[in-house]
Amino acid sequence: MNYDVVIIGAGPSGIAAGHNIINNNLSCCIIDKQVFPRNKLCAGGVTQKTFELLKSLNLGQEFKGENTIVSKGVSIYLKDKYITDIACKGNTYLVDRFEFDEYLVRAYEKKGGKLLENTKIKNIDTENNIITLADNQNIKFKYIIGADGAVGITRSLVDKDIKANGFCLQVDIDKINTSYNSDNMAMYYGVLPYGYGWIFPKKNHLSVGFIGEYDKKIDYKCEFENFLNNIGINCDRSEFKGAFIPFGQYLNKPINKEK
Ligand SMILES: Cc1cc2nc3c(=O)[nH]c(=O)nc-3n(C[C@H](O)[C@H](O)[C@H](O)COP(=O)(O)OP(=O)(O)OC[C@H]3O[C@@H](n4cnc5c(N)ncnc54)[C@H](O)[C@@H]3O)c2cc1C
Repeated sequence: MNYDVVIIGAGPSGIAAGHNIINNNLSCCIIDKQVFPRNKLCAGGVTQKTFELLKSLNLGQEFKGENTIVSKGVSIYLKDKYITDIACKGNTYLVDRFEFDEYLVRAYEKKGGKLLENTKIKNIDTENNIITLADNQNIKFKYIIGADGAVGITRSLVDKDIKANGFCLQVDIDKINTSYNSDNMAMYYGVLPYGYGWIFPKKNHLSVGFIGEYDKKIDYKCEFENFLNNIGINCDRSEFKGAFIPFGQYLNKPINKEK
């Protein structure tokens, strides 16, 4: 198999790049190790700016999503003390990533893009431009795009020492078990050093989380429990999901080889 571009990862970055490539009449193959629809830990806030970008790729404008809420504002808190409500400049689309990413990948396929799901990569040979899959199939490419997340295998091709420096915990709570009935987002400051907490409502659940610069001295589960208690949410710590996330850490030159 030969493609102009191979993209590793079919999340929003990989799919947006894939649409752009197809719009420019180049051949494209996206490889993802998971099968869609798949869960992705995320609060699902798609800003107006991102929505406009997706629209410019002729993508995203028809997305409805059973669980989506269109939010027009945010309530600001300092710890658990309410400060004010702010109207956002545009809409924020609060999407369920299970639904949203599925919509994006199928829209890409409808346009004629090749997607290999449930596909593991054995080796990436950047000298000869060949990707070898776990089943020993070879794929040749002119260009490769790494879109496999914050700590994916392609990042290490350009930056061996990368270690994500932010850490977050999130839990999805059934709305029935809470008294939260606003379409506004809520942001909580002062809950973690260099960080913040949030409630992003969806139709049937709330995504509640916090993020801060990673510090191994912090007992994150305990801090998260305190945060949830302070905002009146009860939940077992076995339901917490965590992820490292980059804080800044942009590459000035994200290309490792030019031919
Ligand atoms: C708790 C939390 C809350 C967040 N909330 C928000 C928010 O409200 N708004 C917002 O804009 N951002 C939010 N983010 C960040 C957002 O989730 C990411 O920025 C976004 O998902 C990045 O998209 P991506 O396409 O680059 O990667 P991802 O969405 O992570 O997709 C990467 C894809 O690559 C695939 N992959 C990984 N490794 C391989 C491999 N070796 N081979 C093949 N495939 C591979 C994965 O299966 C996955 O499908 C949040 C993140 C977290 C953790």
